[in-house]
Amino acid sequence: MTVVKHSDPNCIFCKIAAGQIPAQKVYEDADILAFHDIQPWAPVHFLLIPKMHIPSMAQLGPEHQEVLGRMMVLAPRLALEQGCQPYPEGGYRILCNTGVHGGQEVHHLHIHLIGGPRPWRKG
Ligand code: 5GP
Ligand code: ZN
Repeated sequence: MTVVKHSDPNCIFCKIAAGQIPAQKVYEDADILAFHDIQPWAPVHFLLIPKMHIPSMAQLGPEHQEVLGRMMVLAPRLALEQGCQPYPEGGYRILCNTGVHGGQEVHHLHIHLIGGPRPWRKG
């Protein structure tokens, strides 16, 4: 079973959260970081992470409700700030790959926000 740690020294997103690896930041507060995906699929593509090392959705418990809720409420605001067009003509996709079958490659919980005019490289 995977243990939820505050920080994992081998995790690339923990290193980004700690400022040890650079990233193009979109938003930051004490608990949450948003930064541009290094390989964007679309004109807007950024990731929202809790700074705390939670490997995936599968490890979530009641203690994470507040931070996950804040991330979801933050996402629409950041989407517009980053150039997504307003709902309903515009909009965006929110994606949270979980586990190997879910296509998760980085095992630090992250929400993809993908948007902008189509076509996109994927999806
Ligand atoms: P997953 O497949 O785990 O849902 O997505 C991981 C995402 O993280 C991918 O879209 C990938 O491009 C992005 N990514 C991986 N390593 C880095 C990195 O070092 N910096 C940034 N900004 N994005 C990364
Ligand atoms: Zn991590």
